[in-house]
Amino acid sequence: MKANEITNTYAENVFTIKTMRNYLSKSTYKALMETVLNRSTIDAVIADEVADAMKTWALAKGATHFTHWFQPLTGATAEKHDSFIEPDREGGCMMVFSGKELIQGEPDASSFPSGGLRATFEARGYTAWDPTSPAFIKEGEIGSTLCIPTVFCAYNGEALDEKTPLLKSMDVLSGQICRLAKLFGIKTKGKRAYPTMGAEQEYFLVDKEFYDSRRDLLQTGRTLFGIQPSKHQQMDDHYFGAIKPRVMAFMEDLDRKLWKLGIPSKTRHNEVCPAQFEIAPIFEELNLGIDHNMLTMEILRNTAEEHDFACLLHEKPYAGVNGSGKHNNWSVVGPDDKNWLTPGDNPHENAKFLTMICALIMGIDKHAALLRATVASAGNDHRLGANEAPPAIISIFLGEQLYDVIKQLATGAATSSKQGGTIEIGIDSLPKFPRDATDRNRTSPFAFTGNKFEFRAVGSSHNCSQANTILNTIVSEALDDICTSLEAGIKKGEKLNDVLQQILQNIIKKHKRILFNGDNYTDDWKKEAKKRGLPNLTTTPEALKAYTTKETINLFDKYGILSKRELNSRYNTYLEIYEAEIIIEAICAKRIAKNIVIPAVIRYQAELADSINMAKSVLGKVSQIESKKLLSEISQEIETVLKTAAELEKVLKTHKPDKIISVQEKLRTAVDTLETLMDRNSWPLPSYTEMMFVM
Ligand code: ADP
Ligand code: MG
Repeated sequence: MKANEITNTYAENVFTIKTMRNYLSKSTYKALMETVLNRSTIDAVIADEVADAMKTWALAKGATHFTHWFQPLTGATAEKHDSFIEPDREGGCMMVFSGKELIQGEPDASSFPSGGLRATFEARGYTAWDPTSPAFIKEGEIGSTLCIPTVFCAYNGEALDEKTPLLKSMDVLSGQICRLAKLFGIKTKGKRAYPTMGAEQEYFLVDKEFYDSRRDLLQTGRTLFGIQPSKHQQMDDHYFGAIKPRVMAFMEDLDRKLWKLGIPSKTRHNEVCPAQFEIAPIFEELNLGIDHNMLTMEILRNTAEEHDFACLLHEKPYAGVNGSGKHNNWSVVGPDDKNWLTPGDNPHENAKFLTMICALIMGIDKHAALLRATVASAGNDHRLGANEAPPAIISIFLGEQLYDVIKQLATGAATSSKQGGTIEIGIDSLPKFPRDATDRNRTSPFAFTGNKFEFRAVGSSHNCSQANTILNTIVSEALDDICTSLEAGIKKGEKLNDVLQQILQNIIKKHKRILFNGDNYTDDWKKEAKKRGLPNLTTTPEALKAYTTKETINLFDKYGILSKRELNSRYNTYLEIYEAEIIIEAICAKRIAKNIVIPAVIRYQAELADSINMAKSVLGKVSQIESKKLLSEISQEIETVLKTAAELEKVLKTHKPDKIISVQEKLRTAVDTLETLMDRNSWPLPSYTEMMFVM
């Protein structure tokens, strides 16, 4: 594909602004743009014309169906297709798509998790068009489908999805940023502010044949057994290494598919672990960035299949080597069209910047447990705190120089910065923060990286909405506090810069315990964090409780993002999903051990016993001490596996996740020991070595 082919086909499957302009009347286009850019409510009168335009465009692309595309609490996306077909009463048919069908859908929602929000007799759910994310086309092998991004809620408007609270939190954040902008004398001209997001996505590839013969991968997304290859990631030779041709072909194909959907895929490389890779897009407005990340995960999986791979998005597909996460890069564009996390060249810009930094410090310290809850899942429990991903303790890394500035702000009158000179908010300029100096700490869960913050605890399979909804909301609350104090000070006749200096000083003094520049992987940090009173919630059930605390309920209520009932439903749903995953894994582990591993080992045991006997009959008296030792070890381990499998069966009945997990780990140890004792050719599962290195 030549360069101009790329530019010509980029976003060809998206109902882009440009396409809209071509297909819509001037007045409808203007009205729709008002909604897209400024979030005004969609005028029902124009819906019919927009629907008709979308249909015309989609039919030309071979679409036969449309679907409302939404993001229920399962973590996946959902779609239910309806064809455009309408019999014309003369034996033929027409292709029809109305404004009503565009704006609202009514899928039977009884099988989506609602965490108790909806009784089964009120099973209806409603999907409503989100015009801020453009419609797109999914190509199938024969036909294609028009997809309309929507929110999803119950009959009384209660949210049943991840997008609804996200959009609300974006509005709230915009409101607070614009309020602050006004105080800073920035003309907002009716413009809004918005968060930006770029998700660096990690994933594993494995040959489809191996994948298909691993029941654990098929059923749970991760290997429940398996021993480390002798060489895995010790040499760090995979990271940024030359990409193998077969993987390269997959990546080439993947990028083309993403570009056609207007997903600005930018970076691709090998990751630390063999068979692990990363893809990163250019950042976009948060809402769209998340939709695009959800699509990217889907296209990763589908494209892998076409190349006889399976794409693993589980947070820990293999034990003993790195797992996969998402680096959620987050920033805010103000109504002045500037990134507010860029330290500017002048005092004015720096006031904005330092206020944002302090709002983040305050928000995250106040709600560290809640931020941790947004990344809680069975898969991510294997990752957080396992010395390869950020720990379960949330802290902020600012980098040496910014940390220094912040410390000085806290000590009262502005003193010298690391680079010399003095800093006073709104009067002085900050030193330049070199990018490489801010980006060196890879162990921090929440790091300042030059012009954005990077939340690194998100799991590779997660929908980023939860994390970003919380980020937007806690920053909004902090900004709300700051603005209220600023307004009060100004009313009393104080100077803006003086009040601001005082406010930020107080914030830093109160919340500086959340700042940590050191190595997050050490036990010393765990001890230190405990002393500082920072939460260390290592398991999902512990972490999820943050959704139900009084502070969380008040926070969400204050900004109208989720009601207490809605929060509760989320808590129940996420916990149910967690427990179901633990139980499925345990059942799967038990079956693999009993029905796949043990039969193979028993056959091998017989072979080994026979061979010992035969050797004796041929050779007479000969020392077979080691052979017999091997046989006896295998025999004993068979007993251990069977006993532990029975124990697991029993403990499954208790429905207690921590107990199930601990017995399952015991089972894994026993089965893995057998793998080290067995003939490679008699082992019934593809090995880690094969899965990671054959591609
Ligand atoms: P790294 O974090 O490895 O240094 P990059 O600087 O290339 O790499 O950025 C990683 C991701 O952060 C990319 O997806 C990029 O688009 C995104 N990003 C960059 N600037 C912003 C921003 N202002 N807001 C949100 N995401 C951003
Ligand atoms: Mg990064």
